[in-house]
Amino acid sequence: TKVLLTGGSGFIAAHILEQLLAKGHSVVTTVRTEEKAAKIREAYPSQAASGALVVAIVPDIAQPDAFDEVVKTPGLEVVLHTASPFHFKWTDAKKELIDPAVIGTTSILRGIVRSAPTVRRVVVTSSFAAILDEAHISDGSHTFSEASWNPVTLADIHRSPATAYRASKTLAEKAAWDFVRDPASGAKFDLVTVNPPMVFGPVVHHLNSLDAVNTSNERVVDLLRGKWKEEVPSTGAAVIWVDVRDVAAAHVKAGLEIPEAGGKRLFTTAGLFSNAELAQIVRRNFPEYAERLPTEATKGGELPPEGERYKFDNSATTQLLGMEWIPFEKSIVDTVRSLKKVGA
Ligand code: NDP
Repeated sequence: TKVLLTGGSGFIAAHILEQLLAKGHSVVTTVRTEEKAAKIREAYPSQAASGALVVAIVPDIAQPDAFDEVVKTPGLEVVLHTASPFHFKWTDAKKELIDPAVIGTTSILRGIVRSAPTVRRVVVTSSFAAILDEAHISDGSHTFSEASWNPVTLADIHRSPATAYRASKTLAEKAAWDFVRDPASGAKFDLVTVNPPMVFGPVVHHLNSLDAVNTSNERVVDLLRGKWKEEVPSTGAAVIWVDVRDVAAAHVKAGLEIPEAGGKRLFTTAGLFSNAELAQIVRRNFPEYAERLPTEATKGGELPPEGERYKFDNSATTQLLGMEWIPFEKSIVDTVRSLKKVGA
């Protein structure tokens, strides 16, 4: 199958690319710079030489015609749209966060309608951020599921950087569903969204350095660098997590292997976690870092008591995908091993 994967340089997308190529699919992936394109081609020399892997440059996904050229690739059947800002290094939330998320999504959908009639399915990487409602973060009587929607609007983006990021994911996902449900859009493909919470797991070494690790693994780097020695920071609103290899597998299954996934939101979640548990796992498995790590007596980072945190139910997704989620300890051990390879 011929697949278009946007944002191929990303933490999650790198695993999607690896799984697609391992299964023999042919992939066109987009990145912003030639430097990143070259690294990806170098990592897969035989596929790059045979044409099974093509890396294309799309410099700015916030342009309404950003994907017009790449969607003209003949024979595309599936599009996996992962590119979207996930960092807090912006100054203008509307321009640097909301626009690439939302326009990036609508521009690829419009481009497919105009130039890629063979595409039958589009998978958009959304997020738990589009499911969560900030009003219920500490509400033990509330359950988030595939049916839940974040009520956040553009008017809320100045509340906090986290709210702005959640708005970018919510508005982008809404724009995608609105597009495919609008009879006037001309869409002949169906849509699946993948909505992961906090994603941990190994970084792909050819794309990473310790100082530029993806946002959700940053806390593991902080821990290894000794920043949690005196006090373990609060786990935050995301007390649920999933391994990157499972998120990648969900994209591949949803896009290429499970026709019934069409029209579904996939809440890919392995379970609860806390920063305290994360620190203990690293201490148990990597004694070489002991000096820099908190001890068993160090306070902080515990999971809030059951009555003071939301519940989640992603059984529909687990069943549809037939997933056995990778356990937290394995995910963290593999994350740290991968970070050691890039200098931790
Ligand atoms: P990364 O930061 O590693 O990947 C983000 C990707 O999007 C990169 O390829 C990046 O390109 C690209 N990108 C970001 N901003 C732009 C822009 N303005 N124009 C063009 N490309 C851009 O993070 P993840 O892999 O974690 O994120 C991938 C997707 O998964 C995102 O949609 C994110 O919202 C979503 N997600 C991630 C979660 C997590 O915990 N990691 C949880 C839930 C959802 P470049 O390499 O050039 O910066």
